[in-house]
Amino acid sequence: MTRIIIVGCGIVGAAIAYELSLIPSLEITVIEQKTPASGSTGAALGVLMGVISGKKKGRAWKYRDYSLRRYETLIPELEAKTGVKIPVNRQGIVKLLFEGDNLEKWRQLQQNRQNNNWQLEIWDREYLTNQCPQILDERIVAAVYSPQDRQINPQILTKALVEAATDNGVEFKFGVSVNKILSSAQEEYSQRIMTSQGNLESDWLILAAGLGSTPLTDSVSQKLDLRPVVGQAMKLKVNQDLGLAEFQPVITGNDIHLVPLGNQEYWLGATVEFPDELGNAIAEPELLEKMKADAIAFCPELKNATILETWSGKRPRPQGQPAPVIGKLANYQNVLLATGHYRNGVLLAPATAKEVIDLIS
Ligand SMILES: Cc1cc2nc3c(=O)[nH]c(=O)nc-3n(C[C@H](O)[C@H](O)[C@H](O)COP(=O)(O)OP(=O)(O)OC[C@H]3O[C@@H](n4cnc5c(N)ncnc54)[C@H](O)[C@@H]3O)c2cc1C
Repeated sequence: MTRIIIVGCGIVGAAIAYELSLIPSLEITVIEQKTPASGSTGAALGVLMGVISGKKKGRAWKYRDYSLRRYETLIPELEAKTGVKIPVNRQGIVKLLFEGDNLEKWRQLQQNRQNNNWQLEIWDREYLTNQCPQILDERIVAAVYSPQDRQINPQILTKALVEAATDNGVEFKFGVSVNKILSSAQEEYSQRIMTSQGNLESDWLILAAGLGSTPLTDSVSQKLDLRPVVGQAMKLKVNQDLGLAEFQPVITGNDIHLVPLGNQEYWLGATVEFPDELGNAIAEPELLEKMKADAIAFCPELKNATILETWSGKRPRPQGQPAPVIGKLANYQNVLLATGHYRNGVLLAPATAKEVIDLIS
């Protein structure tokens, strides 16, 4: 049996645990200091900006392409195994284009996607108004519709992954924190960690601890610079569905997502708030207000909405390297980093799990 320890049970750790659990002869343990999806994943909206992202090549596109495809099989697989109904919006994403947006760039992306068997539609203003009558803003010139992008509830998805992985034999230790890595770079075959419940040993150690990955790599003097970027969001209730009841896609305007949840409820988010020079990131109430005002500017009906809930989370953003950070910890053969997913951890979780499996095997 090959022993694998995964630190962190956000969407990334849970996806890795589940995908690894499908491989025989592995003894997998996940260590989480709190509960599943209690970090960044707990705040996420689960919008999968894949086809509609500007990414065309390299690993950025490869990961998106893989993840979108894997989600199509993963969701039914998890639902069948666990009986958990995972909320998925399959009506796509409508991205609003404003004056000054480069329409030609979107036409080129549409062509590129078509060559790779993905669809994008470019809508003029009139067609947008027919499809999404709730959108009313003189500044909007067109829209891009991505029917194959999805939105998935990240918290329920994480719980389903944990349940399915448990069923496949993965051991989860919740309420246990990893304090430091004890093994040195020379120890190739055995990785030791100190936890709040004693020391543990494994053949592979996978750091999927989001922002918590940085103190762990610090413990072996390896620099992994992840900075917190705050995101605030809110849940709204309106009197009747916005726009057409039968067409409720995610609408994205000026980097704000309006996510339909059913029952006349919507998520609206998220702000992007960078840390100060000292690395402190504190949610600013006026930025949440501004986000709501910006959304009302393109969807005026939102001004009558009732705010049911507001929350914030911190996205793990790598400094000086692109997100995400997946690969071997420098000088360590059997310690893997699977972290720093910044704004796209839910989208990229399946591809991250695949990359980890490739590295292990
Ligand atoms: C408001 C907001 C909206 C977002 N919307 C989207 C979106 O629409 N689509 C999308 O793809 N992404 C979105 N994101 C980004 C996404 O949430 C993150 O990229 C993703 O959740 C990262 O997942 P993770 O598992 O790596 O980290 P986390 O979810 O932070 O999980 C890490 C886990 O490790 C645990 N941990 C840390 N240190 C230790 C330790 N020493 N010992 C034990 N356990 C430890 C933590 O408790 C935590 O549970 C959003 C983020 C925010 C804040």
